Amino acid sequence: MTDTTSRASAAPFTTTVLGTARIGPRRELKRAIEGYWAGRIDRSELERTSADLRRAQWTELVDAGHDSVPVNTFSFYDQLLDTAVLLGALPARFDEISDPLDRYFAAARGTADLAPLEMTKWFDTNYHYIVPEIGPDTSFTLRPEKVLSEVTEALEAGVPARPVVIGPLTFLALAKAVDGASHPLTRLNELLPLYLDLLGKLADLGVGWVQIDEPVLVTDAADSLAHHAESVYTTLSGASHRPAIAVATYFGDAGDRLAALARTDVEAIAVDLVEGSVDTVAAVPGLGDKLLIAGVVDGRNIWRTDLASAAATLATLLGSARALAVSTSSSTLHVPYTLAAEDELDSNLRGWLAFASEKFREVATLARALRDGRGAVAGEFETNALALSTRSSDPRLHVTALRDRLDAIGDADARRSPADQRLIQQQERLGLPALPTTTIGSYPQTSAIRLARAALRTGEIDQAEYERRMQGEIADVITLQEQIGLDVLVHGEPERNDMVQYFAEQLEGFFATANGWVQSYGTRCVRPPILFGDVVRTSPMTVDWITYAQSLTSKPVKGMLTGPVTILAWSFVRNDQPLSASANQIALAIRDETVDLERAGVGIIQVDEPALRELLPLRDAEKAAYLDWAVRAFRISTSGVDDATQIHTHLCYSEFGEVIGAIADLDADVTSIEAARSHMEVLDDLNAIGFGNAVGPGVYDIHSPRVPGSTEITSSLQSALKAVGPQRLWVNPDCGLKTRGTPEVTESLTNMVAAARELRDAL
Ligand code: GLN
Ligand code: ZN
Repeated sequence: MTDTTSRASAAPFTTTVLGTARIGPRRELKRAIEGYWAGRIDRSELERTSADLRRAQWTELVDAGHDSVPVNTFSFYDQLLDTAVLLGALPARFDEISDPLDRYFAAARGTADLAPLEMTKWFDTNYHYIVPEIGPDTSFTLRPEKVLSEVTEALEAGVPARPVVIGPLTFLALAKAVDGASHPLTRLNELLPLYLDLLGKLADLGVGWVQIDEPVLVTDAADSLAHHAESVYTTLSGASHRPAIAVATYFGDAGDRLAALARTDVEAIAVDLVEGSVDTVAAVPGLGDKLLIAGVVDGRNIWRTDLASAAATLATLLGSARALAVSTSSSTLHVPYTLAAEDELDSNLRGWLAFASEKFREVATLARALRDGRGAVAGEFETNALALSTRSSDPRLHVTALRDRLDAIGDADARRSPADQRLIQQQERLGLPALPTTTIGSYPQTSAIRLARAALRTGEIDQAEYERRMQGEIADVITLQEQIGLDVLVHGEPERNDMVQYFAEQLEGFFATANGWVQSYGTRCVRPPILFGDVVRTSPMTVDWITYAQSLTSKPVKGMLTGPVTILAWSFVRNDQPLSASANQIALAIRDETVDLERAGVGIIQVDEPALRELLPLRDAEKAAYLDWAVRAFRISTSGVDDATQIHTHLCYSEFGEVIGAIADLDADVTSIEAARSHMEVLDDLNAIGFGNAVGPGVYDIHSPRVPGSTEITSSLQSALKAVGPQRLWVNPDCGLKTRGTPEVTESLTNMVAAARELRDAL
């Protein structure tokens, strides 16, 4: 007998979001978890804070008029890690920790003896997930406690709960094979019984709908994805005892995978209509018996939805499916909680934005318009249109002088003289020894720095006092570097809260939020600035700090800037012009800054681009065009200076893969890169493509508090020397030192300098 009770009770819903944030509007969860780690609060208090946050979010959605609410999107750390736990797939090395919560945190962060799981970017967002490891010995067992208890909690609170779990395809595609195991996707069939079991248990609880997230379906991670999608969801939807299934695709167009899903018996498919195209969806055959969850409200950017155009998109889809639900394009995990927490917004800008709370209401308005007709929400549509009309006419979005200047930028402005020619002039000017030693920019962010910043914010000290204190920090860092014996010094970046926000706060066209926190990973949150208008640099941003630092020493001090791609990657970006246009505007501002630094006598300028690889599009077809404009923007930023001025760049990741050619094309005089954890392999990759400029492969890993001995550094340097030869090799750590403590930094750098000198003397 077929049991369809659970499914039969699952009427199509109309109003929802694919998921929500969990860190708390005031980062309550961050504080609770860190408090728990530090032993300041006990487990019951952590559980209480978590339950309060979940409840507040559900209540908000229900009050906004949502008739289906995502549940199990709460997490103590990360949803992929939660999925690894759900499937019983944590690596065996954590088995020795018997307490489940401690084991969970150990897998996320490591312990004194256990290496954590790796972390990497969640598709092309700035969220980072924990990478599950699948080894030959990994076995799978369903551990549904978390999802079942959150569902129970929600149902008891009267919430129309729709549990959300990550699907088997996405889980395996994002997992990493270890210990010689074959690709995790080969284990697909082993996971299906667990998902079937889970579906049964959810049905037992009386759940009407389950959402299974498969964002991997918008990528080209595997060419057989459409085929896998069809077979997996045929199996899962073939279960006799289960809730209705909604498969969620997001972060782009799911292409032929939609038709594959439509051929299965799942009851609903969620599509991203912000990044994906409505025509693709409308053309999918076989949606006639499905609920189509239409993601017309952008879940990952902060712009107010144009309700009229979203309504038009929805109208196009009427008739192509059995029913339509209005939703966000993705979880709102990626945007801040609410505009209500921002006091400094001017009324125009406020009218153009929607954070999570505002998006919840937009979804509800659109759903009402669909159900009751536009007339029922005429007021909302009118307010919306009025607010948005000020956007296209606001002069801050069209600064003619800037646009004229950009129009005049040609290839010659993105090109310097040949690198070897520049090198001769730079050597003459700088007179550096072979194997020059340097650091990446930041020095430990001491508590004195943080206190000063907080005191400035609360008005306890004035700007002059703040600057005096920062100068004190700079002086200390210069003295330290001279004592250690480094060749090229930095000012230490004490005045920068963040390498992007610092610039955004000074450039017109950006708005820096007061409370716009979003989770980056675990308990780490960032506050991405909002790029809303044309970018104008009204005055130099770094020159005073660098020249102050230079005044204290006869060694060269590097100017330190963030590149245009990284500034874009770590901001919320305009959606009314291509990214490349925004990149070029930022590039001009950075270019002007390099020229001012040069004029002030600074001979070396580093333009960091750690995010160059992050913005790489998900689809192969779009990658080349991206790399093209990204490289060009960097080159516009760095080609305004004379040959004798040495441009450095810094990229902190080691798997260059698809961007290796672009790194060479940046044509920086010196490129510092992460290499310590990958045994200098990147140098061979650079050689293989004929890169001839200087490189500074990181000789030790700054991500760990361990102090590397000088023999260890010497051996790294020897392999680097073998790969690039003595003319082109710089000596530096992997990345900036801001998260480390001064004693370990002093010791590590002293060993690094000793190793460099020993090798230099032996040349
Ligand atoms: N200059 C920056 C620093 O040292 C670079 C940081 C980064 O690569 N993310 O902190
Ligand atoms: Zn770095």
